[in-house]
Amino acid sequence: MPAMRTQRSVLWIASGYVVLAFPLGAQSLMTNGQLAHWAVLTGALYMAGVWVISHGMAQRYGGSAHPRLALAIAVVALALLFYFSQVSDQLWLRIVILNVAMLLLRALPVRSIFRAPAFKSGVERILWACYLALLVNAVVRTGVVMYLLPVQSVEDLTQSGLWLLMLAVNMVIGLAFILSLLACSLREILQALRSERDHDALTCLLNRRSFLESAQTRLRSPRSSGWALLVCDVDHFKRVNDAWGHAAGDEVLQIVGQTLQQQVRPGDLVARFGGEEFVVLLHCADMAIAAGVAERMRRQLAQTHCSAIAGAVTASFGVAGVGSCDDLPRALERADALLYLAKNAGRNRVAWDAAPGMTSV
Ligand code: GH3
Ligand code: MG
Ligand code: MG
Repeated sequence: MPAMRTQRSVLWIASGYVVLAFPLGAQSLMTNGQLAHWAVLTGALYMAGVWVISHGMAQRYGGSAHPRLALAIAVVALALLFYFSQVSDQLWLRIVILNVAMLLLRALPVRSIFRAPAFKSGVERILWACYLALLVNAVVRTGVVMYLLPVQSVEDLTQSGLWLLMLAVNMVIGLAFILSLLACSLREILQALRSERDHDALTCLLNRRSFLESAQTRLRSPRSSGWALLVCDVDHFKRVNDAWGHAAGDEVLQIVGQTLQQQVRPGDLVARFGGEEFVVLLHCADMAIAAGVAERMRRQLAQTHCSAIAGAVTASFGVAGVGSCDDLPRALERADALLYLAKNAGRNRVAWDAAPGMTSV
């Protein structure tokens, strides 16, 4: 779920609750006569608040709260509220009309929410459950008002235990909804920050810090054994920058990153270590096979046309085995030394551990 979208949705939902606070606060101070006098305005604010929350929920899951349909519902409800307040003052009917309208407005985004692949985390499910509970509560409240609470005046409501209980339940569910929304947002913000911290902005690969962290976790795992470390450095990259400019160089680095990533399996790690140097951790015990993977990468790179430089770049590779987590720094040094062997031997080649001199695979 894109962080920007969900943050915007939180803003909409918070605005919805702010709008709802106005009629709720105002009505609690009104007499029967004032309630009828202001029925259309308070009704409009209630519906606006509920729709804005619906719109926020729809935004969160990439759906729609159907603004035109919402407007039609609001217009019909407001016309009825006008009639039953200014022409014939009927509090009970006004409550039913407003509750039905708010129920419909709340239900507008539900279809598109159900379609979204949203059940990713526990908190997200709680958020969902709270929204559905708000909806069910609106149905129950409408039913109760229609069949159990034929009110004539506002005093009938304020003295009804059932009505007060419904208000309390609504507030508790609303509070749970807001808290779960805050928890979801906090989780998304932390995820976005962690992802930013762990990835290189240019290539979207892991950066040095997160590579070392993830590599240590993998190497410590007792279930996995046999890893190889590939160090890759683009050949004569300075010339690319000098001849084609820094932006073209950046584009080449992105292509190199993609090419390396395409050649590994899901459990392997690919990182940009810095500048034009990349590192790969391969789950592979056999050095000849690891060198074969490096060779495949090398060949693929040499054949990949980069439009920014109207040609291809080549890269040199050093491949070393990694026995354990403690061995990682030494394996990096060995792979680096092999890389420089490959560079000195003319570049665009692979040097690997098994060969004492230098092996081009
Ligand atoms: P060699 O074949 O020996 O590796 O030569 P080289 O030119 O690739 O190596 P050198 O270390 O001399 O130059 C690396 C260049 O990479 C220098 C630096 O300006 C460039 N570079 C480092 N980071 C970036 C980057 O993020 N974007 C671009 N466009 N260039 C970068
Ligand atoms: Mg280089
Ligand atoms: Mg370099």
